[in-house]
Amino acid sequence: MKVSQIMTPGPTQVRENVRMARALATTNPDLDLQFYEFYKETCEEIGQFLKTSNEVRILSGEGILGLEAACASLTENGDRVLVIDNGIFGEGFADFVKMYGGEVVVFKGDRKRAIDTQKLGKFLEKDHDFKYATVVHCDTPSGVLNDIDKICHLLKRMNILTVVDSVAGMGGEEVRVDEWKIDIVIGASQKCVSAPAGLTFLSISEEAFESMDQRKKPIASYYCNLLIWKDYYKNKWFPYTPPISDIVGLRQAFDNIKEDTGILERHNSIAKATRKAVKKAGLSLYIEEGYSNTVTVIELPKDINDKVLLKYMVDEFNVFIAGSFGYLQGKVIRIGHMGENAKRDKMAYTLLALQSSLKELGFDCKTNMVEVFLSEV
Ligand SMILES: *Cc1c(COP(=O)(O)O)cnc(C)c1O
Repeated sequence: MKVSQIMTPGPTQVRENVRMARALATTNPDLDLQFYEFYKETCEEIGQFLKTSNEVRILSGEGILGLEAACASLTENGDRVLVIDNGIFGEGFADFVKMYGGEVVVFKGDRKRAIDTQKLGKFLEKDHDFKYATVVHCDTPSGVLNDIDKICHLLKRMNILTVVDSVAGMGGEEVRVDEWKIDIVIGASQKCVSAPAGLTFLSISEEAFESMDQRKKPIASYYCNLLIWKDYYKNKWFPYTPPISDIVGLRQAFDNIKEDTGILERHNSIAKATRKAVKKAGLSLYIEEGYSNTVTVIELPKDINDKVLLKYMVDEFNVFIAGSFGYLQGKVIRIGHMGENAKRDKMAYTLLALQSSLKELGFDCKTNMVEVFLSEV
């Protein structure tokens, strides 16, 4: 494997101190009581990052495990669940809900815009008999960003538990779990947190734990069961051997974030400058309203094939950006400016590579994207 710059919307680049932390000698995480302290402190650090006093758990599996675990743990046969959908991950929640016997009701939003909270409010006036609702913060395949604060307040007013996928949001966009009333928020290691793929983490409210506790039938999964993690510290027992080296690396990544006090402002200015450069070049952004500061999604110019373009960028410039999938396959390209990727030098080089590659393939940009970007950021 050649080492390339990965400017994809996850996985992202991993800083050397995180890679080194994963190489440290470790202990037996099931038997060594010091590891229980380390795990607990790491969860508390994540809690501070998420602005919550709720319990946090780190599970061994990437982001999808977190999404499935939330649905597996909350859903009982016949439970009505509201799936708020304006993108591919938004829609995907429905599969997990159904898998565990839930009855899905979809609130569909415009795929090029943030969820219209007024419309959602009106919808909830008429129908609010839901055990919980799912919503995605940044839906990465399109780059749309939803107003989690407003959405969760609307849901909680109707006593609906809130499940938020902020895998691609947190770290680049504000997340305030307690203020915004998020019962379960899901994150993962490989996006803005900038650790390697392999871990998911969740904050879980007391109300969410109570709901799991009060189930009529036990959770139909072991690996996706959040309830078995509830008392790990009191009992000094993990449901399975935690991947200790991954967790030591994750801790370093969160220490990096803690020191990086301007992280949200940097994501904001990098993303804004990128969007401006793209537009001035004569390219089109996919989203019309509700831009995430973690990923920029650009419509492919006519007659440019995404696979050819991406391969050319890797071969000639050693930089990876991404295409998309589902209904966006072959229609857009995506640049991830998340976490370690959200740096001026890395983005400038990526735009240089993109502009040069487009030119080679027959599309001339109207301006120099690097110059526009650097003058704005
Ligand atoms: C990346 C991501 C996930 C995790 O899924 P992957 O299989 O790692 O891509 C979940 N939700 C969102 C919104 C993501 O961007």
